[in-house]
Amino acid sequence: MGFSTDAIHAGNAPDPRTGAVAVPIYQTSTYVQEALGRHKGYEYARTQNPTRAALEENVAVLEAGVGACAFASGMAAITAVSTFVKAGDHVVCSNLTYGGTYRYFTKIQARYGVEFTFVDTADADAVRSSMRANTKMLHLETPTNPMMTLCDIPLLSEIAHERGALVVVDNTFASPYLQRPLELGADFAVHSTTKFLNGHSDSVGGVAVVKDPAHLEWLSFVQNSSGAILSPFDSWLVLRGIKTLVVRMERHETNAREIARYLAQHPKVKKTYYPGLPDHPQHELARRQMKGFGGMISFDVGSHEAAQALLSRVRLCSLGESLGGVETLISHPATMTHGSIPEEEREKLGITMGLVRLSVGIEDVEDLVADLSQALEAIG
Ligand SMILES: *Cc1c(COP(=O)(O)O)cnc(C)c1O
Repeated sequence: MGFSTDAIHAGNAPDPRTGAVAVPIYQTSTYVQEALGRHKGYEYARTQNPTRAALEENVAVLEAGVGACAFASGMAAITAVSTFVKAGDHVVCSNLTYGGTYRYFTKIQARYGVEFTFVDTADADAVRSSMRANTKMLHLETPTNPMMTLCDIPLLSEIAHERGALVVVDNTFASPYLQRPLELGADFAVHSTTKFLNGHSDSVGGVAVVKDPAHLEWLSFVQNSSGAILSPFDSWLVLRGIKTLVVRMERHETNAREIARYLAQHPKVKKTYYPGLPDHPQHELARRQMKGFGGMISFDVGSHEAAQALLSRVRLCSLGESLGGVETLISHPATMTHGSIPEEEREKLGITMGLVRLSVGIEDVEDLVADLSQALEAIG
């Protein structure tokens, strides 16, 4: 089946009892058993829930995996996948990884004897030379937040697999519609469903998809044992959100392309970061590895004052963290999402005080351009 058909139908079988076309929200904590040792495959709702199972089946199909586990947040999905490494192991991770992932790895998992190296994963040689005999995992994010740099998933997967390391791709920014890491060579695809998969800024959740049945067995064991499951209602919301993933992603993208072109020629904008622009350093890789360029753009207006002027003047674009919703969100990475990185380090990564990030929504693009245009005029 095609991706759009799967997005709507995979895991979404009509309810066997009533024929309900939408998977019901099974809001129950337990299930009555017919007799001792005889039940319908459902014993306790941390372990099994039909609404969550429907979502897991749906996302597994969309990511071309053998199975998926849904979690209470993107971070819970990432921490569950991180149980594939143990004390004495080494992990190589993208130096522009999501801040919460960096915090979890360095402040929590490092206390349990796991070592980390953070590298520019756009540079395959840097990844290769940071691999050690005990490297067991490569954690990638592409495109990265907020610099929109890409990494070559097939090439890096080969490098990692040669050394027996597992490859995790945080696919939150692209969504499975635009990029399918498991088909490109990775072992795990993880998502914050909070973003594009749910798409309506009304749920927090996460999912991890695997391609090896043995990995699914361990991940399900971890999901049940540590218990950070996605609730039935959130599972239902994400299932519902995914039905329109394709039409939303296409609109996010056409809007983003037009806005990126507009920003790239604007005299007040020093630099625009968007993989769809021909001058993006990995534009060719984006064409090869992704089905589209997505809805995230960053741009530099040159100074903190300029960014402040812009952000205080926007009306339609909402100032806020997060991304991937139908409404356009605008943010200031240096003081918001990436505020915990020391300034010197931040500047080196390109996250200057003038950098602004845009999660382009699906509003009428003329209205978004008009809003940005009037706000850019506020810059002196
Ligand atoms: C938001 C986000 C996460 C964390 O997800 P939560 O649902 O907020 O826990 C992880 N990775 C990326 C790329 C994200 O954008």
